[in-house]
This record gives sequence, C-alpha cells and structure tokens, in this order.
Amino acid sequence: MTRKTGLVFFPAYDYAISPTHPEREERLLYTQDQVLEEGLFDFDNIREFKPGIATPEDICRVHFCVPDLDTVAHASHLIAAGGCLTAADKVMSGEVDNAFALVRPPGHHSFRVVHGSRGFCTLNIEAVMVEYIRHKYGVRRIAIVDTDCHHGDGSQDIFWHDPDVLFISLHQDGRTLYPGSGFVDELGGPNAFGATINLPLPPGTGEQGFLYVLDDIVMPIVEAWKPDLVVNSAGQDNHYSDPITQMAFTAHGYAELNRRLAPDICVLEGGYSIQTALPYVNTGIILAMAGLDIAHVREPDYDAFDHRQPGEITDYLRRLKEAVFEQWHARSTLKRRFYPDGEFHTRSKDIFYDTDGLREHQRETVRICPDCGGTIVTDSRCDDTGNRILGITIPFHACDACRHHGEHQYEAAPSGRNLHVILQDKDRDRYLVRT
Ligand SMILES: [Zn+2]
Ligand SMILES: [Zn+2]
Repeated sequence: MTRKTGLVFFPAYDYAISPTHPEREERLLYTQDQVLEEGLFDFDNIREFKPGIATPEDICRVHFCVPDLDTVAHASHLIAAGGCLTAADKVMSGEVDNAFALVRPPGHHSFRVVHGSRGFCTLNIEAVMVEYIRHKYGVRRIAIVDTDCHHGDGSQDIFWHDPDVLFISLHQDGRTLYPGSGFVDELGGPNAFGATINLPLPPGTGEQGFLYVLDDIVMPIVEAWKPDLVVNSAGQDNHYSDPITQMAFTAHGYAELNRRLAPDICVLEGGYSIQTALPYVNTGIILAMAGLDIAHVREPDYDAFDHRQPGEITDYLRRLKEAVFEQWHARSTLKRRFYPDGEFHTRSKDIFYDTDGLREHQRETVRICPDCGGTIVTDSRCDDTGNRILGITIPFHACDACRHHGEHQYEAAPSGRNLHVILQDKDRDRYLVRT
C-alpha cells in the first residue's frame, strides 16, 4: 500500500567543519542528483517541503547552550533542526503519512549541555524535534530508534531520565568505534529504567544481522512499549563502503529495515560514503516510506557473495538477544540494584568535544520520583572557556514535589562570576536565565 511521504531536503551547501572533513558541503550532493534522476518527485505520493528554521525557544527546550546559542551554533544548525520540525508538522497535521528530514549537519552526539561540537554534532536535531512534538501536539510517548553506526550518546543523555521516551540504539560495538559507549547495561536513569536500550553490534554486521536484530529484539520491545510515534535516527554509516566505520550493511537492507520499522519520521544522521552509499540508501528509504517497490534497490558494485554473514556474527547476535531480554524481563529487580533507595541520584561525566577540543566536567543530580521524570540539576563547567552553568530541568508532566524542588533550586542557587543559573521548565515551556 502506498503512503504519502514528505521530504525535507537541506544539504547546507555553505557549511562544513573543515574543507576535508567527512561531514562537508557535498555530503548530500549525489543524493540530490539520484533522487531527481530516479524521478522520485514524479510519484504523486512523494512531496518536497522547504525546511523551516528552529527558534531559540525550540532549542532551549532541549539544550543549555554555553555561553549562549549564537556562540555555539551556525544558521545551518538551526535550519537542520528546523527541517526536522517541518517534517514533524507535516506528519502531525496529517498532510503526509510519514516524512524524512534529509538534513545536515547531524545531531545525535549532542548532549543536554552544549559547550561546542562533538562527533560532528552541535544541536541534537531529533531531540529538538521530539520536544517540539510533545510541546506543540501533546503527544506523550515517543520511541527513537537510532540506526546510525555510532552510538547515539547525545540522545541517550538527553532522554536518560525520561520515562516517556524509549531510546533504542543499534551501533557498532563501542570497544571498536567512537564514542566508545552504548553497552547493554546502559538502561536509563532511576525514573526511566529500561527506557534506554543499547544493542552493540560486531564490526562486519550486514543485512542479515541488522534485520535479525530489528525483528527479534527491536520490534518486540517497541511493540510492548506502545509508543504514539516512532522516530528513526537514520544514520547511513553502517554501509559497507563507509570510510569511517567497519560495518557491512546495504542500501537494500536499510530500505527493508525502514519498511519493517515503519517510522513516522526519519531524520538523517551520519553517513560519509557520499557517492557509493548515500544516494542508494536514501533512495531506498524514500521508496520504503512511500510504500513503493524496494526490490531493485542495489548499489552498482554490490555482490551478494561477498556479503554472507560469518557464523561468529550469527552466534554473537543470538547471545545479544538473550542478554537483552534477560535484562528486560528482570528490569524491576535490576533497577533496585542499579539505584538503591534514596532521594537523589548523582552521576559525574567528563565529556570531550572532539570537534572543538574542549573538555567539560559535569555533575547531574536527579530527584528520584515515582510520579514523573524528576527534576534534574546539571552543574557543568568547561575549563578551556571558563564557562560554568547550573541548569535546572523541570520535566514534562512534572509532579508538584519536583516542580517545587526545581523552582527552589533555581532561586537558592549561588551567584558568581561566569556562573549562569538557568531554569529549563519543559512543563510550562519557559527558559529563564538568572543573572
Ligand atoms: Zn554516525
Ligand atoms: Zn516528580
């Protein structure tokens, strides 16, 4: 059955980290040519929309930008995020059945606090979109399935304490690839335990392995969780030709994964094989979303014989499935072991901004709460810039006790030079900076 599919294309032809960087101007050039050559816009059910621009309010619903938004972000970041918001509006208004934001620069390595860029990302465009949808349309439960080759550590960080966002990341094993996280025992904070799922895959995993993980692990968890909306962070760097990763996924596999997952909104993340992979993977995803035939999606150099799955990968994935479900079924017992009783839980993070060469030290304290996601207090400083913030996040659907705690923390916080005290109140959609 065909579906109405919206495409939001923003190639950011004037933005790059550096001229030779993998995330550079021409990343979507061949994709744009391929989409036109294949005549995808000739189908009545595929429509293109121009991206909007995300506002500071949209960004501040997710991030603490330090020292401020203008210092850390470029106009392209706001349009990449804005393209996702346009995709969301078109789906939420019913103008299309689903939509694909084919935008750059990407976002899934950006954490709640942003001192600079890491992993080619500055603003977490999916997270900005998810919070926009929850704020504007009142959607409660959203699942993000991140199929980029790198662990979506930024999205994980932002939704770690959120019981209404299921975050599932499939990625090349963190022992072998940036950012080095995303192991099966990373399951979420005390108020959202089990709403984070990590599926590290061995280098060399291809179509057979990805579809097995999708069918046998991802889909049963998504179905049990019953989201109102499914978002796919559609990174394409699992492709066998990608220059910075070691996976063996195919364009047809990506299309088939999309067909089976049937996300409401796809957001492009990574993917750096700009000539050999991106044009074919993107075409496959668009065809799958629109409910068109994907049987002929093939890279010109694809050879099925080279892509047989080694036995050790099959064995590993079977063990991964067992491990994930053992934890999933025992999650209430495990939660008590991870988070013994108490009023607060604190975690310390040292975050390295590889793109900008900055180091951040962070202490994040969440109020343990059975009634909501819990107020979060984030104390963050960057030694390289001297900037420090104390950010207080009141969650969506905050209970009275968490609201009271958050407002009190904001009012009672100490003052100091270079210290910005910020209240990010998601429930009342306000962002206050105390000077
Ligand atoms: Zn990636
Ligand atoms: Zn609460």
